[in-house]
Amino acid sequence: MKYIFVVGGVMSGVGKGATTSSIGALLQSRGFAVTAVKIDPYINVDAGTMNPTEHGEVFVTVDGDETDQDIGNYERFLDTNITSVNYMTTGRVYLSVIERERAMGYKGRCVEVVPDVPQEVIDRIKRAGKNAKADVVLIEIGGTVGEYQNLLFLEAARILKLESPRNVATVLVSYLPIPASIGEMKTKPTQHAVRALNGTGIQPDLIICRATQMVDDVRKKKIGIFCNVQAEDVISAPNIDTIYEIPQMFDSQHVVERLMKKLGMRARKNDLAPWKKLVSTIKNTKREVKIAVLGKYFSTGDYVLSDAYMSVIEAIKHASWAHDVKPVLTWISSEDYEKDPKKLKDLAKFDGVVVPGGFGARGFEGNIAAIKYVREHKIPYLGLCYGLQMAVIEFARNKCGIARAHTQEVDAKTPDPVVHFMAGQKEKISGGKYGGTMRLGAYDCNLLKGSIARNAYGSDIISERHRHRYEVNNDYRETLQKNGLVLSGINEKLDLVEIVELPKSVHPFFVGVQFHPEFQSRPLNPHKLFMKFIETCK
Ligand code: GLN
Repeated sequence: MKYIFVVGGVMSGVGKGATTSSIGALLQSRGFAVTAVKIDPYINVDAGTMNPTEHGEVFVTVDGDETDQDIGNYERFLDTNITSVNYMTTGRVYLSVIERERAMGYKGRCVEVVPDVPQEVIDRIKRAGKNAKADVVLIEIGGTVGEYQNLLFLEAARILKLESPRNVATVLVSYLPIPASIGEMKTKPTQHAVRALNGTGIQPDLIICRATQMVDDVRKKKIGIFCNVQAEDVISAPNIDTIYEIPQMFDSQHVVERLMKKLGMRARKNDLAPWKKLVSTIKNTKREVKIAVLGKYFSTGDYVLSDAYMSVIEAIKHASWAHDVKPVLTWISSEDYEKDPKKLKDLAKFDGVVVPGGFGARGFEGNIAAIKYVREHKIPYLGLCYGLQMAVIEFARNKCGIARAHTQEVDAKTPDPVVHFMAGQKEKISGGKYGGTMRLGAYDCNLLKGSIARNAYGSDIISERHRHRYEVNNDYRETLQKNGLVLSGINEKLDLVEIVELPKSVHPFFVGVQFHPEFQSRPLNPHKLFMKFIETCK
């Protein structure tokens, strides 16, 4: 097994995840079995307890782990399901070491930070590789070199290389600023990052230079000399229109050939055609489809970020490209409708509206008002998780005459809990057991013949990923159905409502799902429900 570590220098947020995924996709296109591991240096045991405005989306795996959004990138680029063994945090690693120590797993010897913690990291990396029957394991270490937090993970990389020098390579993703006052691309921060990495005993094999522009030969040579790498191993990674173009950009600079050479690997084939076709569609599609995404996790201070909804955004894009339309996304903070209901009529400008997952009371009534508007004005609507729950509450209030219909999440004492705690969830919350205790991971769902959902999926039974504590209250099923809501997806084993919709005769596309289909959409394999939604919007 070969191991490629991807580490960051200079600053975070420059695309380690996209780099890792793209190298993975390129290795796959050469015929290798690839898997990718994400290491987060947080004490949190998983990403489920982290605020998405700060940390980005919480991605859910088939086996119910709540992970960093990069696992989503890996799944999208590698078109494969990645499971819990591929994700670790400092908290998770320490928890295992301590539990093992308590169980006499170290047979009474003194357990030390080094080597026992890095060894646990190495064991996990190897397990992930074995589990995926991988030829190559890519390991992305979160954070930036020089930070105290990721030292133990760099130690793991160093020790693994010591153990198996021919099988380990390190890629540094750096950033080259071009200060406006100077107008020149500066290499010094990268030189410092490499020094910091050298200080941990690691020499990068390849340096990916993120920048707004191409890195010229003069700077490639300079980086080579100061950072002790060949100029061919200095890769230019300028800003581009779509992350799905990165595999091609790397391929033209022989990124994987360089890595394969260092690792003594020989390619079995080379097929980048599907990526090239996708990028050509992305660049050439002209006709637009305008989609509004209503949410609340958009702003940090003065900046607007949409990372909290990454998979939703990607799923909309994948489906749009597959229909040869260009998605134009608008982020709307649903609280705006509470402050100024007149704004609701702006929704008429859109071809479709999505309400993604969420938690809590903020923006709730704004969403309800928006859902009422799109239902009445026949604007295609896709509700994801909270987006289903709100659609059901809106329908109960305005079509079934249940004026105080609510979710117990927002109004614990509502006389009409149309959406209520799932079995066992109330006890978990009151016992303070928040971490990893929602309904998580993949569950089967049976689809109703003749429904929009059944037609979209093209099968009677599907499996989708969940992350929620509340559900549609079965006591209200009959009333909802009598008034025209179709319960088109049911988990028969647990007797849960999973999909609701309006008949086609009433509305072109009004569908809510209790799960998160966005987690299973891939650029080369778009999600069928999103495809149907976009087709209707188009
Ligand atoms: N807050 C809702 C629940 O816990 C929906 C969760 C979600 O949208 N992921 O049930």
